[in-house]
Amino acid sequence: MKQIALYGKGGIGKSTTSANLSAALSLQGLDILQIGCDPKRDSTRMLMHGSFIPTVMDLVRERGDAEVFKKDVVYTGFNGVRCVEAGGPEPGVGCAGRGIIATFQLLEKFGALTGDVIVYDVLGDVVCGGFAMPMREGYAQEIYLVTSGELMSLYAANNICKAIRRLSQRSKSTCRLAGVICNAKNMPGEEDLVAEFARRVNSSLVQYIPRDRAVQIAEIHKQTVIEYDPASEQAQRYRTLASRVMENTTFTIPIPLEIDELEALALEYLQI
Ligand code: SF4
Repeated sequence: MKQIALYGKGGIGKSTTSANLSAALSLQGLDILQIGCDPKRDSTRMLMHGSFIPTVMDLVRERGDAEVFKKDVVYTGFNGVRCVEAGGPEPGVGCAGRGIIATFQLLEKFGALTGDVIVYDVLGDVVCGGFAMPMREGYAQEIYLVTSGELMSLYAANNICKAIRRLSQRSKSTCRLAGVICNAKNMPGEEDLVAEFARRVNSSLVQYIPRDRAVQIAEIHKQTVIEYDPASEQAQRYRTLASRVMENTTFTIPIPLEIDELEALALEYLQI
């Protein structure tokens, strides 16, 4: 079983990328479980045709964990992708990992942490006190950083590199950086910048995903691009991403950049 996690700044498009990746993987005939960990609970929404499924945190808060059952938290979405939302506290507060820990404990109790691939979609910035938890506990083994060429999202990606590096020094740790996904804002020089960022942190650019109206149109129809517009170029990009993720065998311990270096890099490529 492959356990991959997509990390990146809030609002960068992790959920869109994760949901399309899960959808594309499921069409390869794989059994997929996607777990969202974000108070916004919208990771799995497009796989569920627009519905927000109940979160583990809300249910545990309301009923206590003894009264929460598998059918309450695991929902079947597009092409059999199983969907779970950990949830969390009020946006901006951070739950120090309680949401995701409670989720892991329950799913383990139900024997539901199974499948060919588990895709974790984890908020990775300062609002979250517990974003490293899936890595620390050994659930997220192959980490993909989702970033655009914007400085703030590169900062967040660089910080996640620091966390992976720190955790990888533990003897039992299995988490490694598997690559960088550029979810572009379509700025000039962006692909080269993110590719160079990936190289400098000791990794590589796995897939460039340009900004494309196909995503918004599919989302208005409450579907992933893979489902709504499978013939589009954007759908093909997500399928390529899925194939690259499955074929990837290059997992590294990242070397985070100093802030000065990161800023100089952005200046060089974005021709500001
Ligand atoms: S661990 Fe972080 S991302 Fe997950 S629910 Fe808690 S605050 Fe949110």
